[in-house]
Amino acid sequence: MYSEKTMTATTNQDAQIPIRTYLESPSSPGIKLPRFACDSHVHVFGPTGRFPYSTDRKITPVEAPKEKLFALHKQLGIERCVIVQSVIHGFDNSVVEDAILAGKGAYLGVALVPATVTDKELHRLADVGFRGVRFNFMRHLLNDASIQQVIDMTPRLKAVGMHLQVHFESSLIHDLGPLLAKSQVPVVIDHMGRVDARKGNDHEDIQVLFRLLENKLFNVKVSGIDRIDAQAFIENPYASGIAIARSLVERYPEQCVWGTDWPHPNHTHIPDDGILVDALTRMAPDPKLLEQVLVLNPQRLYRFSSQVS
Ligand SMILES: [Zn+2]
Repeated sequence: MYSEKTMTATTNQDAQIPIRTYLESPSSPGIKLPRFACDSHVHVFGPTGRFPYSTDRKITPVEAPKEKLFALHKQLGIERCVIVQSVIHGFDNSVVEDAILAGKGAYLGVALVPATVTDKELHRLADVGFRGVRFNFMRHLLNDASIQQVIDMTPRLKAVGMHLQVHFESSLIHDLGPLLAKSQVPVVIDHMGRVDARKGNDHEDIQVLFRLLENKLFNVKVSGIDRIDAQAFIENPYASGIAIARSLVERYPEQCVWGTDWPHPNHTHIPDDGILVDALTRMAPDPKLLEQVLVLNPQRLYRFSSQVS
């Protein structure tokens, strides 16, 4: 099934030819997710007629508009979502804002802003449903802000009820970790810190990630089993990515949220979203734990308007 559904992403030199990054017809998961399950990490791209891509982007993905996202979530049994603004659209967050509005309270956002963003703009973003801002510390993505600038802006984030989401290469965790601990707002680490799952739980990057999570200021997205482990084609797909995710969920159950990362930009292959959902049963085998990660944690962190007890 995997070899049929999972294709190798094409790379191309010409940034103008759109790259397909997601399956048009992913498989449906075998598991039924709990009510109000939240996909805490996705993006939307376009339509470019209305929301042009940033001229600074490094790749040109095919459009992945909100209607496709909503349809996917219906198929997967996902009722809540957090849409993360991407460098594909740069600092103009209007594509996510539009999807938040259409999501009627079930879809919230994380914005991309420069560290010099005005308080007025932060207020405006918070009012429309952005719960955090994201900074990238990756070599392949643009980054204008230094870690110190980012930490210095956290009192301003606190004033509007936003948190800090950070995306970095695993080797950077050693330097960034102690600085991020000075944040005045919760810190959400993307994609399990991008640790290399094949290196196992004893690797120093993963050990530092575990140690950071001893501090409740930190949360982690147990998304990206397919990014830290590209082995989709074997019988037991993403086994080492799942093993890391499971360790995180079992050690820090109240600090983990999960996401598909649809439409999977900047990837080694095109993952099948149904397979990613089914992997949850191996990441959080206990239904109570699954509900913690899919419902209770995102509800607390992102403050969805209707609350489940
Ligand atoms: Zn992403």
